[in-house]
Amino acid sequence: MQIYDVCIIGAGPVGLSLAAALQKSKQLNKVLILDSIKKPKFNKQGLPNQRVLSVTQSSREVLQSVGAWDKLEQGRVNPYNRMIIDESNGQDYLEFKNQQAHIIEYDNIVNALLEVYDGEIEFESKLEKIELKPNEYVTVNDKFQCKLLIGSDGNKSKVKECSNIGTYGHSYHQMGIVCTVERTDQDSEVAYQTYLSNGCPLALLPLYNPYSSIVWTAYMDDYKYLMSLSDEEFLKVLNSQLGRYAPRIKSISNKRMAFPLQSLQAQRYIQKRIALIGDAAHSNHPMAGQGMNMGINDAALLANCIIKNSRSGNDIGLEQSLEEYESQAKLMNYTTSIAMELIKNTYENKTISPLRQLGAKIINNLDPIKQIMIQYGSKHPLGPSQFEWVK
Ligand SMILES: Cc1cc2nc3c(=O)[nH]c(=O)nc-3n(C[C@H](O)[C@H](O)[C@H](O)COP(=O)(O)OP(=O)(O)OC[C@H]3O[C@@H](n4cnc5c(N)ncnc54)[C@H](O)[C@@H]3O)c2cc1C
Repeated sequence: MQIYDVCIIGAGPVGLSLAAALQKSKQLNKVLILDSIKKPKFNKQGLPNQRVLSVTQSSREVLQSVGAWDKLEQGRVNPYNRMIIDESNGQDYLEFKNQQAHIIEYDNIVNALLEVYDGEIEFESKLEKIELKPNEYVTVNDKFQCKLLIGSDGNKSKVKECSNIGTYGHSYHQMGIVCTVERTDQDSEVAYQTYLSNGCPLALLPLYNPYSSIVWTAYMDDYKYLMSLSDEEFLKVLNSQLGRYAPRIKSISNKRMAFPLQSLQAQRYIQKRIALIGDAAHSNHPMAGQGMNMGINDAALLANCIIKNSRSGNDIGLEQSLEEYESQAKLMNYTTSIAMELIKNTYENKTISPLRQLGAKIINNLDPIKQIMIQYGSKHPLGPSQFEWVK
C-alpha cells in the first residue's frame, strides 16, 4: 500500500491551494489529492461560467505566493473598485470605494492551481471510507495510507462524516440562484447588492464587459418560481428587482444554477491524523462573498502549521501538531460568521428599516469607518500574516 505524508480529499480552490503551498515548501515527500469529479476543463473561449467568486486581497496574496495568480486567464479576472449596497424599499445606499477585489470564475481559479500543482492527483476517485488507526496511519479506500488526511471536500464532507466530527448550524431554507447575464452598460468596475423587501440580497457582480454574474438569494417558494420561468420571463423579473443604481440587463447568457444556503461550523477542525479546511469546516451565507476566501485562509494557516512541524521533525498528524491551526482558524472564521449573521439579521428585520436607512446614510459619510470595513473584508486581521512556504 502506498504511504503518503498528506492525502487531501477535494481538489476545489481550497484543497488545491493547500497542496500548492505544501509542494512549494519542499518539506514533504509525498502528497496525494483525490477528487470524485472528472478533471475540470476551463473553457477560455466560452461564455463566463455561472459559478464566480469575489476574491479578496488575502486570497490573492496566497494565490500569488504559490504562483497561481499569474496562471489565471487574465482576460477573465475582473477587478472591481466600487460596491453599491441598497434596499429596494429605501432611498439611501452604502457605497464602498477602493475595494481591490476581483471577480473570477471558479473554474479559472481551479485551472490555475492545477497548472502550478504538478504532484500526484487522482480525479474520478471518490473517498468512500477511511480507517483510523490513531497510532499509525489513516487508510483511505483500502488503497492508500497517510500520516495526515485533509478534508477539503466541501460542505457535505465525507472526511468529516467518517471522522464522526459533529456540525453546529442550520439551513437558511434559502437557495442561491446564479447565472451569467449581459448588462446594458459597459462599466465593469462596480458591483451591486440590493436587499429586496423580504431581506434577501440580489447581487450583480461585474465580469469582463458586457457580462455580469447574478447571485440571487431566494426562499424556497420564490426559488421554485424563479427557476420555473423562461429566460425572457426571468429577465423581466430580474430587471424589476435590481436596485435603482444598478444597470439593467439585456439578456440571460446561460442556464440558472442553484445552491442550498446554510450556516455550518464543524465542532472540531482537527482530530488525530485529520484536519478540515474550507467548506468542510464551515459554510456561510454567500452575501458577503467570503466562503472561499475564508477557506483559502484556512489552507494557508494549515500549510504554515504542517510545514513548521515538519521542519521541527514532529509527527504532522498528531493532534498537538494541529492545534495551532485549529485555534487560529476557528477564531478567524467565528468572527467572520458572527459579523455575517449580524448583517443578515439587520437586513431581514423589517421593523428597523428606518433606522437601517439612517445608519446607511451616516456610514456613507464616514470614510474612516468604511475603510475599516473594507480592510476587514479584504484581509482578516486574524488571517495568516506570513507564508512558511516562501521562506
Ligand atoms: C451562490 C454562491 C456564491 C458564492 N460566492 C462566493 C464569493 O463570491 N466568494 C467566496 O469567497 N465564496 C463564495 N461562495 C462560497 C464558495 O463557493 C465556497 O466557499 C468554496 O467553493 C469552498 O471551496 P472548497 O474547496 O472548500 O469546496 P468546494 O469548492 O465545494 O470543493 C470541494 C471538492 O471536493 C470534492 N469532493 C466532495 N466529496 C468528495 C469525496 N467524497 N471524494 C472526493 N472528492 C470529493 C468535490 O468534487 C469538489 O471538487 C459562494 C457560494 C455560493 C453557494
